[in-house]
Amino acid sequence: MTPYVDVMDASAAEVPTVRGEAPTAHGRAALSVLQTVFGYTAFRNAQAEIVDHVCADGDALVLMPTGGGKSLCYQVPAIVRHRADRGVSIVVSPLIALMHDQVGALEEAGVHAAYLNSSLTSEEAQRIEREMMGGRLVMLYAAPERLTTPRFLAQLDSLHERGLLSLFAIDEAHCVSQWGHDFREDYLSLNVLHERYPGVPRIALTATADDLTRADIIERLQLGDARIFISSFDRPNIRYGIVEKDNARAQLLRFIQDEHDGDAGIVYCQSRKKVDETAVWLSEEGITALPYHAGLDADVRRRHQDRFLREEGLVMVATIAFGMGIDKPDVRFVAHLDLPKNIESYYQETGRAGRDGLPADAWMAYGLADVVNQRRMIDDSPAGEEFKRGQIGKLEALLALAETHDCRRVRLLAYFGEPSVRCAAHQNACDNCLSPPVTWNATEAARKALSCIYRFHQNGGQRFGAGHLIDVLRGKVTDKVTQHGHATLSTFGIGADVSEGQWRAVLRQLIALGYLRTEGEYHTLELTASAREVLRGEVQLLLREASASASTARSKRRGAATPRAGAFKDKAPPVPLDAEATERFSALKAWRAEVAREHNLPAYVVFHDATLAEMARAQPQSLDDIAQISGVGAKKLEAYGREILRVLQG
Ligand code: ADP
Ligand code: ZN
Repeated sequence: MTPYVDVMDASAAEVPTVRGEAPTAHGRAALSVLQTVFGYTAFRNAQAEIVDHVCADGDALVLMPTGGGKSLCYQVPAIVRHRADRGVSIVVSPLIALMHDQVGALEEAGVHAAYLNSSLTSEEAQRIEREMMGGRLVMLYAAPERLTTPRFLAQLDSLHERGLLSLFAIDEAHCVSQWGHDFREDYLSLNVLHERYPGVPRIALTATADDLTRADIIERLQLGDARIFISSFDRPNIRYGIVEKDNARAQLLRFIQDEHDGDAGIVYCQSRKKVDETAVWLSEEGITALPYHAGLDADVRRRHQDRFLREEGLVMVATIAFGMGIDKPDVRFVAHLDLPKNIESYYQETGRAGRDGLPADAWMAYGLADVVNQRRMIDDSPAGEEFKRGQIGKLEALLALAETHDCRRVRLLAYFGEPSVRCAAHQNACDNCLSPPVTWNATEAARKALSCIYRFHQNGGQRFGAGHLIDVLRGKVTDKVTQHGHATLSTFGIGADVSEGQWRAVLRQLIALGYLRTEGEYHTLELTASAREVLRGEVQLLLREASASASTARSKRRGAATPRAGAFKDKAPPVPLDAEATERFSALKAWRAEVAREHNLPAYVVFHDATLAEMARAQPQSLDDIAQISGVGAKKLEAYGREILRVLQG
């Protein structure tokens, strides 16, 4: 099914294609578009090949991580093809709310683009339809439900007959898959495109990394003949860190204050209620935070999303309803206060940090209760047994990632079948590489806990939860202990030397490792078949030291991070700038904010921080100098060049 698989290294430097050396005529045209329209010097990784292939009428499936640069993979071919009189490219995007900004970014770069959706007045829609039917539009963005209406298909027919239907780009292509987390019914009808316009090339794009979804996309969109481009899914600029929960709110606050003061970030929580409460609490603590979940009014959601995109340093507290398609480049952290469903979700959600390639954090706090909750949600769901088993397998893989003593990046990528090396040498190593966790030989402790549960079973067959088990192990006489006569068990008090927190950590890890599982409404603990191996002393358990050490681990981590904390701290300029350059950077940002407001667009659509920082550093003296800066295309040079010179001259 896979005609071509190309594994690229996303961490590699940009492909050394310099001006004038592109291989084909398409390639030369594409490079020229990249440079003059977008102001970038070179394609990254597989971009050049993908663009070349699509310019030459090929179908493509592009699997690239968030921030990998997918947009240019269809935008550049759309422009090249339009210039060759091939007409209009249709971009299928599921997110009506984001089309305005996507199109705004293209218009800023001087590319004639538009969107059709329900937010337009009928006059506006008619005007855009005229632009489209005249073949003047380079790109038209539309949601799938519009695309497959008879009226729109008739318009496409007419364009097609006149040779003006250039290309279909299907963004967020995983929406076609029931396996993906964003399944959209309307995406299923997109196969009509291939059946109706077989000669028009299609490029489908997604950041979803798992095989099942990939295969589903190929089948449902009939991309069997498409060339498949798979990039590395490593995100070298993201630092992964998972801490043990011990007053999660306070931990979150400390994390934001210490490492991301004034940064934009996303905090994921599982329930709407927790989202609301956390947002209020962060606000009370002086952090600008807004809630986002499906229970809020559509209007409120739109307003909050807009503020997140347009303001600087805003923290969005959200359920998983928030995030897809948000292309804000400077999200500096994604924090999880609750365990995600599985590694796919963790990867998607954390992937929203650091699209701009600058250092960003993926931070999670997790504890015993999270493990128990996730298990219960699966158990309680109405799904079939086989499906549940699959879900549990996926949860266990995530727990293994959370509990690993070893490199998290290696674990994460291995899950997606990608070999990688430990990130110790990376600029942004994970917490485990940065400061290896302290482990202890917990074999004896584990045996005590497991045999205590075994005694419960023998002693009346009743099951108990973690709290009671720990009381018995630590020899605490509670009402419940007395009531069940547990003070007479041989295991009563055999674990008094281990602290309660340490016991919680042991139990959590025993669940994560599959020796224990929780059951039913009261999360009672139950031995699994493999618990025998531990009871018989056949396995040695080296577990993470916890609880009492959780705080030391934290301060250690902070200590270890000090030499490089600068990369996160002075987030104002994304590259190191001296005091005067920092002042110029601030002036440029103030100017940019005004332009963005006038144009009703997010600031990063006008120029990225990195582009402004480079201007502040290099102090261009002329329009020609400005043109050399990455991110400045011809249109922006013309529109803003003089003003930039004026701002820089103070
Ligand atoms: P994705 O859609 O894959 O998440 P984007 O298309 O939003 O990624 O690109 C991520 C960022 O990288 C954007 O800010 C984009 O402008 C930038 N980018 C993409 N390709 C290049 C390139 N060849 N040179 C410089 N910057 C690039
Ligand atoms: Zn690592």
